[in-house]
Amino acid sequence: MASKMVSWMKFKSTILFALVFTLAAPFWADLLPGSSNVQAEARSRHHRVSSTRRASSGASKRSRTTKASTRSSGRTRVTRHATTHKAAASKPKYAYPLDFFMMHPPALDTTALDEGAASDIRHAFNVGTADDINAERLVKAGVFRYHPLSGGIFRRREPVKYIVLHSTETGPPVPAKNVINAWNSMGRRHPGAQFVVDRDGTIYLALDPDLASVHVNIFKTLPGINNDNTIGIEMNHTGRQNYPLEQREAVKRLVTYLQHRFDVTSENVITHRYAQQGDHTDPVNFDLDGFLASKEVFRQHALALKPRRPKFVIEEETEDEMPLASVYVQIHGLLKLPNLESLAPAIMPQALLERMPPSSARFFAGKPGANARTDMVDSEGLPPHMN
Ligand SMILES: [Zn+2]
Repeated sequence: MASKMVSWMKFKSTILFALVFTLAAPFWADLLPGSSNVQAEARSRHHRVSSTRRASSGASKRSRTTKASTRSSGRTRVTRHATTHKAAASKPKYAYPLDFFMMHPPALDTTALDEGAASDIRHAFNVGTADDINAERLVKAGVFRYHPLSGGIFRRREPVKYIVLHSTETGPPVPAKNVINAWNSMGRRHPGAQFVVDRDGTIYLALDPDLASVHVNIFKTLPGINNDNTIGIEMNHTGRQNYPLEQREAVKRLVTYLQHRFDVTSENVITHRYAQQGDHTDPVNFDLDGFLASKEVFRQHALALKPRRPKFVIEEETEDEMPLASVYVQIHGLLKLPNLESLAPAIMPQALLERMPPSSARFFAGKPGANARTDMVDSEGLPPHMN
């Protein structure tokens, strides 16, 4: 694997160039209205739609080369995609005007948090309870790696309603960062998703999910699904590759985080192929049912955990100025009973015992140390005013 990577690095510039067109071809089509053969085939190149043969001989030829090119080398793909790209771009009628897009999002503070705080946040994300933590803070904690989108950004005009899963289908396998770099090389108007999850489980934040980018073709989506009300998650995957466990786990946590943060129902966690029916097939070779079942188990577990978060415990404690009995009684079993007995009379003056909740007072009252102070308790071992 390592030697393969070195080999790829040698052809880095070639591959980047290839990517621009490989990734551009389908998305340029997505940014365009209409349904010409050329555009339809551009999309099929990206997501391997099994398109029917086109009527014209020219289109038919392109259709065949699509099928061949998915199995051929990256270099061959460049030429063929470049041709498609030019053909698609020759009809410049766009879904969004050029000045609709921002080149840069508001700056994120990516300074690392101290390890203690970062570790708490990573834990919260890993168990599915991080939904009150924003994307910037998750970057600072090392949960997300920020590799920002430039261009193709706009402000949402609707609240988030759907989470859309994609696969990158880059032809040659490339690191997730390169996918974002390829988008960014296209200027002000180009496709992009908020997240790209790499095969090792690294979650790249390309754009704060509060903001929008173009990851679905609004001329092709089911009614009500658009770029304003969706968050796009690209999984780095191409062709017959599997989806490694690390990657699936990362996507599971990310989807759960986004569902809770943006109040997205489980039925609105969808795929690009669902959003653009008969038009896209990504995420390709993805076990969606298995993923959704596993994600739902994780999410329900996370929901069950939420009431036990430290935030709530602290709120309960501060309601009453007095510490809970558990502070004295059982610090996760570290405080042994004999020590407690010897401490009880010293730390439980009458005034404090009287202010205690009945359950706590009953505990101390029942202990030998407390019982020894007969002036504090009645014959049944309870303070008189609690009988
Ligand atoms: Zn897609």
